[in-house]
Amino acid sequence: MQSRQIVIAGAGVAGLTAALAFAERGYPIKLFEQAPRLEAAGAGIQLSPNATRILRQLGVLDRLSPAAVRPEAVVLRDAGTLRELARVPLGDLAEKRWQAPYLVAHRADLQNALMARVAELPGIELVTGARVSGVATGQHGLIATTEIGDKSVEAEGFLLIGADGVWSATRAAAGFSSRNRFSGELAWRATVSADSAAGKAFAAIAATDCVTTFLHPGFHLVAYPVSKGTAFNLAAFTMGEIIAEGWSGNADVKILTSAMRGTAPALARLVEEAGPWTAWPIHTVDQRQPWTTSDGIALIGDAAHAMTPFAAQGAAMAIEDAATLAGFIAASPAVPKGALAAWEQDRRPRVARIASRGAVNRLAWHAAGPVAMARNLFLAMRSSEKLAADLDWLYGWRAPETVGRR
Ligand SMILES: Cc1cc2nc3c(=O)[nH]c(=O)nc-3n(C[C@H](O)[C@H](O)[C@H](O)COP(=O)(O)OP(=O)(O)OC[C@H]3O[C@@H](n4cnc5c(N)ncnc54)[C@H](O)[C@@H]3O)c2cc1C
Repeated sequence: MQSRQIVIAGAGVAGLTAALAFAERGYPIKLFEQAPRLEAAGAGIQLSPNATRILRQLGVLDRLSPAAVRPEAVVLRDAGTLRELARVPLGDLAEKRWQAPYLVAHRADLQNALMARVAELPGIELVTGARVSGVATGQHGLIATTEIGDKSVEAEGFLLIGADGVWSATRAAAGFSSRNRFSGELAWRATVSADSAAGKAFAAIAATDCVTTFLHPGFHLVAYPVSKGTAFNLAAFTMGEIIAEGWSGNADVKILTSAMRGTAPALARLVEEAGPWTAWPIHTVDQRQPWTTSDGIALIGDAAHAMTPFAAQGAAMAIEDAATLAGFIAASPAVPKGALAAWEQDRRPRVARIASRGAVNRLAWHAAGPVAMARNLFLAMRSSEKLAADLDWLYGWRAPETVGRR
């Protein structure tokens, strides 16, 4: 008798979404998270309609919406002159066009919404302080070894989902390269309250109900409201040295301020007022290595394909991965190995296209001189409607029919 037990390593966005998508289909889940408590790393997150559509299907969106903000537009501005270069309308128009909202939220609010839904569904056993360290083949599937305190515990399942992020131990246990690559860039993050000096400095230069990206050859800065508009999330991106293994670390804020030469004084003031900044080294995973094995391991989210965040799609891809994987497996329960291969084949082109989109954004946003002038001209000639239409493939995406919801 084929076991239906699923083991998931990592309870980030990918792991929690996978737990929900599989539990909804009746699979029992063991979800292991190495952290002693679930704490949302980082500050804000943009959730585009391709992701919120899935969150709605999984019963998460209703729990997230009260804390999130539905921005009115994505706006690009020149960091030197603060001039508006382009505007993609969101709000009602996004919802009508892509049939799901574009939201911005604090990561803790997303995690709370996912966790609230996890607590409601039967069949999900979440164990914190549990680090998956190895995998072997057992009688009825795979056996994941998990370190819990000073004990080593074994959990058997027909499928092991590695949702353990860019530093994935499952990726190594599957026999793929355990290494990731430092992209050479740092993300600088700060959250400021709307009524602080920094909050007022932001309100003085941009609409507080939009996602605004300030473009400059040395950096770009993305700012948007979170927590129902009571705070703003700021994320600036510069080149930098590798600073720490893992997500967060400290670096000299002079790296950021010196990258901002020629910036409008009001924007420089915002950055000065907004500290302390936390610097996050951006690591990526080589997408050419496999995401699945023939004996039942699947890597999803950053464990499979951590990408630079310049399309704001890493978590969205984790959510899509999780939902589609559950669909492929459920549609083909007798041959999970074939389903894994089919899932990987289906996902690869989309993830690759999105990673390329991020790389193009990075180039365009940091353009200088004549290239920046050409970019600005191109954007000036493109209507908001055309800019929105350019995103239909990304935000209007739906899971393949065969793996749609029951
Ligand atoms: C600056 C920045 C801004 C971003 N902005 C956006 C955005 O606006 N929109 C968007 O969609 N994406 C964004 N992203 C990308 C997004 O944050 C990631 O792609 C996403 O969080 C990946 O989720 P994950 O669950 O795959 O991995 P993680 O969030 O890394 O979760 C992995 C989990 O696994 C646990 N774990 C690790 N190893 C083990 C183990 N061996 N055993 C058990 N548990 C383990 C970890 O503790 C963690 O809880 C951004 C990224 C950065 C750096």
